[in-house]
Amino acid sequence: MALIKCKECGNEISDKATHCVRCGCPIKIEENITKRKVIISQKKMGFFGSGVNIFVYIDNQMIGKTSSGNSISIELPIGKHFISLEMPVNQANRNASNVSKDGKEFLIKEETNEVNINISIKLGLIEGTCNVDEIIYK
Ligand SMILES: [Zn+2]
Repeated sequence: MALIKCKECGNEISDKATHCVRCGCPIKIEENITKRKVIISQKKMGFFGSGVNIFVYIDNQMIGKTSSGNSISIELPIGKHFISLEMPVNQANRNASNVSKDGKEFLIKEETNEVNINISIKLGLIEGTCNVDEIIYK
């Protein structure tokens, strides 16, 4: 059990408590969830892929897009997650025939701060790879 501070009165309370014992302020469950920052970086692509963006989905929600050599970050709660990538070769016309999709499950653990997976997608001659890394921060 860990102690957290009530954001209303500053009283120290259990992180398992639903209400502050002093002021009665409800403790949001969200505040008790440990989150980790995860970086999704796209590997540098060759000449033909240099202008291709990869759309990144976490748990089936689009969180943004990366371009060659760039990255995006997101805070995720501990537990299982699913990353999927969508790579349209024709960026202006994202239809099913030019979109490649692939996905992978990954786990953010409480005790070890380690996520390091690679996920690749390929469409025709163009291959895109994203690396998922966890940032350890206090
Ligand atoms: Zn309080």
